[in-house]
Amino acid sequence: MSELKYKRIVLKLSGEALAGEKGFGINPPVIKKIAEEIKDVYNQGIQIAVVVGGGNMWRGEAGAEMGMERSQADYIGMLSTVMNGLALQDNLETAGVPTRLQTSIEMKQIAEPYIRRKAVRHLEKGRIVIFSGGTGNPYFSTDTAAVLRAAEIDADAILMAKNGTDGIYSADPNKDKNAVKFDKLTQKQILDKGLNVMDSTASSLSMDNDIPLVVFNLNEPGNIKRVVEGQNIGTIVEG
Ligand code: UDP
Repeated sequence: MSELKYKRIVLKLSGEALAGEKGFGINPPVIKKIAEEIKDVYNQGIQIAVVVGGGNMWRGEAGAEMGMERSQADYIGMLSTVMNGLALQDNLETAGVPTRLQTSIEMKQIAEPYIRRKAVRHLEKGRIVIFSGGTGNPYFSTDTAAVLRAAEIDADAILMAKNGTDGIYSADPNKDKNAVKFDKLTQKQILDKGLNVMDSTASSLSMDNDIPLVVFNLNEPGNIKRVVEGQNIGTIVEG
């Protein structure tokens, strides 16, 4: 077995990752595949917390653009992350992995409320913890929730799984053929180069807490495992 670089990780799965090619809704075969990849990493003895997004169903900002009150629209978005969390939990448990789903907005009948100490205890006991509901506050993103939870549970790294993008580029590679991929960056370089890795709230929280961040392509099978083994894939933001 290869040496593991990280012992406790937060894996951020965007809603899009769960939608597959249609780009919308929950796609069970796609989630099944992701659950199996997570299981492979889990079997290596890694403590895994997953933060799920909700953009495959609803984004508050889009609702606001169509005339909804922003907070109200954001709550719909937070609820969509809970639906994704339930779907992921179902697939992980079907794959034989013990899990707990926590929500940052209480919904006791379907999941535990988010309690930091409980989450850590679950991880120590070998359960995967799925954090849903984002931060529980409108105007935030699940990227911010990923950084926040990673800081709270003292994770060794945040794994930002992307759909189709294999790291951080100097420019949008779909628009600029001269765009180059970075293997490694510091937080300061991201600032100096004006790179858009996450929204500004998530970025500044990440900067303040100095938790290594790995941006990689989820569509390449085996990549989550490669990241925890410290293989040089994607872009690592450290220091
Ligand atoms: N959201 C929110 N507060 C949070 C996290 C999420 O209000 O702390 C809402 C927001 O409306 C967002 C939606 O939930 O558009 C889905 O989350 P996000 O866009 O981060 O999901 P992803 O892009 O990762 O799929």
